[in-house]
Amino acid sequence: MHALIASPFLEQHVLVRPGSRSGALLPEARYEELRALDAEAPASSWLLDSVAGQWPDLDLTGRPAGDFLLVRQPSSWSYGKASWEINLGCNFDCKHCYLGLKMQAGMPWEDKRRCLDVMAEAGVLWLQITGGEPTIDRDFMRAYRYAFELGMMITVSTNGSLLWRRNLLDLFRECPPYRVTVSMYGAAKASYDGLTQRPGAWDQFVQGMNAARHARLPLRMSVVVTEDSAHEEQAMVDLCNTWGLEHNVFTNVTPTIYGGGEVLTAQSAQHLKTRKRFEGCNAGVTFFHTDPHGQVSICKIGRDDQISLPREGIQGLARLTSIADRLMLRTGGCSGCTLSGSCTVCRPLAKHYQEAKAPLASYCQHRQEAG
Ligand code: SF4
Ligand code: SF4
Repeated sequence: MHALIASPFLEQHVLVRPGSRSGALLPEARYEELRALDAEAPASSWLLDSVAGQWPDLDLTGRPAGDFLLVRQPSSWSYGKASWEINLGCNFDCKHCYLGLKMQAGMPWEDKRRCLDVMAEAGVLWLQITGGEPTIDRDFMRAYRYAFELGMMITVSTNGSLLWRRNLLDLFRECPPYRVTVSMYGAAKASYDGLTQRPGAWDQFVQGMNAARHARLPLRMSVVVTEDSAHEEQAMVDLCNTWGLEHNVFTNVTPTIYGGGEVLTAQSAQHLKTRKRFEGCNAGVTFFHTDPHGQVSICKIGRDDQISLPREGIQGLARLTSIADRLMLRTGGCSGCTLSGSCTVCRPLAKHYQEAKAPLASYCQHRQEAG
C-alpha cells in the first residue's frame, strides 16, 4: 500500500502522507517528474531529502517508487474536497441530530464505487466519510479501502461507539486515515445516554475511545453541547485534555435535512452563539457533498437542485457552480428585510432555518434589530 501521495490540489501540487497531518508543496516540475517516474526506479535524492525532513520515520532508501508512491493524475475539474454520507442509519438516536429519521439506506456497492471513481476524477484529494454512523454501513470497510487506494486522504466522522472493533482497527492500521473525528455528547453516563436515547451508549463510547487511543488513531473530538449536556461542557473539554486530544466545541443545533425544526428543542439556550460572519464560501466550486443515494449538493446544508452521480456521472458536476451561484443569491424568507444589505448570514443556511420555522434568534445576526 502507498505511503505517499503526490497530487494536484486546487491550483497547487502537494506531497502528503496518509495518517500524517504534515505535507509539502511540490513545484509543478517536481510533480511532473514524479508522474513520469518509472515504478521500478528508486526515489530521487530531492524526494528522499524532502521525506527525511517531513517524516524522518519513513525510510525509502533503495525502495522502488511504485512500492510507496501513488501519483494522482491531473483533473480538468476544480474539486479538491468532498464529503460523503455513506448511510444515514445510526446506532444512536440523538435528540439534536440534523439527519432526522436516519433511515438505513444507501447505494448498492457498484454505485458507491462509481461515486468514488467520479470523486477521484473530479480531483478530490480530501474526503470526509460520514453518516449517520458510517462504520455501520455494510460497505464501509470496502468503500474506505477503495477510496484509500484511489489516493484520497480520508477523514471518518463517527460517534466512536464501534472503534473497538478489530476489523476497523486493522483497516486503519493498514490504510491510515488522515483524521478520525469523534462526536462527544456528554461527560457521564446519564447525560450521554439521555441525549443519544440509547442505554449503554456512554459505555460503548468509552470502549471505542479507549481502543482508538490505544491504537493511536489520529483523533479529533467534536464536543457537542446540548440542553442535556450543557452543565458538562467544561467536563467534556477536561476529558479531551486528559486524553491529550484536540477538540472543537459545537453549540448551535441545526434543523433537520428534511426541514424539520423539532430537533431545535435540544439547543442549550445559554449556549446559542452568534454565527461567524459569512464572508463567502467555495461550496460547489472547490468542494461538494454527496448523500447516501449519490445525490450531489453544494454542501450538507444547501441540498437543493441535487445532481445524481450514479445516473449522470462526472458531467453532472458541470451544473454545480451555477447551482451554487443561485443558492448564494436567493433571498427566500428574507426578502423585504430592510437590513439585508448588511446581512452576513450564509443564504443556504438562512433558508434552511426559515423552512424549519426556526426562531429568528437561531440564525439571524440582526435578530435584535429585526425582531
Ligand atoms: S451519532 Fe451522529 S448521526 Fe447518530 S444520531 Fe447522533 S448525531 Fe445523528
Ligand atoms: S452552509 Fe453556507 S457557509 Fe456552510 S458550506 Fe454551505 S454554503 Fe458554505
